[in-house]
Amino acid sequence: MTSQQLKMTDSGSVQIEGIRKEYDDVIAVDTIDLEIHSGEFLTLLGPSGCGKSTTLRMISGLETPTQGQVYISGDKVTAQAANKRNTSMVFQEWALFPHMTVEENISFGLEMDGVSKDERQKRVTEALELVQLPGYHDRNATELSGGQKQRVAMARAIVREPDVLLLDEPLASLDRKLRQHMQVELKTIQEELGITFIYVTHDQEEALTMSDRIAVMNDGKIEQVGETADLYNHPETKFVATFLGETNLFEGTLRSMDSRPTVETDSFEVIVDEHGGRLGETVAVTVRPEYVEISSTEESLNVENTWTGTVIESVYKGSIQKYVVTVGTEELQIERQLDKNANPFKEGDEVAVGFSASSCEILGNNSPQQESIGNKTTSTSD
Ligand code: ADP
Ligand code: MG
Repeated sequence: MTSQQLKMTDSGSVQIEGIRKEYDDVIAVDTIDLEIHSGEFLTLLGPSGCGKSTTLRMISGLETPTQGQVYISGDKVTAQAANKRNTSMVFQEWALFPHMTVEENISFGLEMDGVSKDERQKRVTEALELVQLPGYHDRNATELSGGQKQRVAMARAIVREPDVLLLDEPLASLDRKLRQHMQVELKTIQEELGITFIYVTHDQEEALTMSDRIAVMNDGKIEQVGETADLYNHPETKFVATFLGETNLFEGTLRSMDSRPTVETDSFEVIVDEHGGRLGETVAVTVRPEYVEISSTEESLNVENTWTGTVIESVYKGSIQKYVVTVGTEELQIERQLDKNANPFKEGDEVAVGFSASSCEILGNNSPQQESIGNKTTSTSD
C-alpha cells in the first residue's frame, strides 16, 4: 500500500497516545490511549468530572495535553490549532447567533473558510435536509424550539464536512422523549454521512442506544473499551458492571471444587467459568438480573447454581416482573419476562433461584491477568 492509499483509508481515524491533562493539582485526564476507527460511532461514557470533555477538547485542539500525542487521519496534530484540524464540535449549549437566521448561522463558518455563495447555499440546503429542517433557511434562531436549535447546531457542524464530529452531551438539555427521538436521528445521520463521531455522555442508556463502541471512563482513566453488547455482558471491573445497566454483585473468595472454579461468599458458593484469577483472592461475581432464573423448585432450574430463597419484593414493571430474593444474607435482583399463563411470585413466597456459570463474570481488582484457573494451570502459590 502506498502512503497515499494508507492516508485515504485512515481518513477520519483518531489515535490518542498517552494523553494527560493537569490543571494545577487536578489530573483531569490521566494518561489514556484510545484508537477510534474511521467512520466509527465511539462514545466516551462516564460520570460527571471523569475527564470526558477534557479528552474531547484535546482531540479538537481547544485544549493542549500536558503530555501525549493526538493523531487525526494518521497525522500528528497535537500542536496544531483547532481551526486547522478537520473536526467540528457540537455542544450541549446550542450557542447559535440569536440575531441571525438559520441559514446565516449555518453558513457563517463556511463564509469564514472562503466558500463561494452558491456553494454555501447548496451545502446549507443539504444540511437542513439531513437534520430534517428543510426550508427553515429564513427562520430567526430565536424562533426555534430546543430540539430545532440542536438540529441547526448539528447542521452547522456537519456543513463544513469534517472528517470527525465531536459531540459533547449535545442532547443533555432536551426532555426525555425528544432526547430519545434525537438519539435515533443522530445515529441515522452518522450512518448516512459515514464520518467518525466521538460522542460524550454520562447517560448509559444513550451510549448503549447509539454507539458502535463505548469507552467507559472513571476518574481520568479509561476502564474498558468495547462494543456495546460485549461491555454489557463482559464487564471487567466493578465500575463498568455497575455503571452500565443494573447488576448483582457478590463479594467472595476464589476457590476450586472438583477442578471447577467457585466463588465462596458468606451465604453460598457460585460455580463460575474459567478466567484469570488466583486461588484465595477476593473477587466479585456479577450477574445481570435478567440472567437470574426463578421457579418454585430447584429441580426445574437447569443451571449449575441454584439456591432456595425468600421473595422480599415483587414489582410489576411493564413487560417484566422484578423480584428481590434473599438467600442467606445476599440479595438477588431478578427480572423475568411476564408469563401470561403463570402468576408471578409474591412477597413472602419461598422460591428456587439460580443462574448458569456462563452467565456470570468475575471481577478482580484491576490487577493484570494472573494465572488462569480451571484449565489445569491452577496455582495455590499465595
Ligand atoms: P466531564 O466532562 O467528564 O464531566 P471534565 O473533563 O469537564 O469532566 O473535567 C475533568 C476534571 O477536570 C474535573 O475535576 C474538572 O473540575 C477539572 N477541570 C476541567 N476543566 C478545568 C479547567 N479549565 N481548570 C481546572 N480544572 C478543570
Ligand atoms: Mg463534560
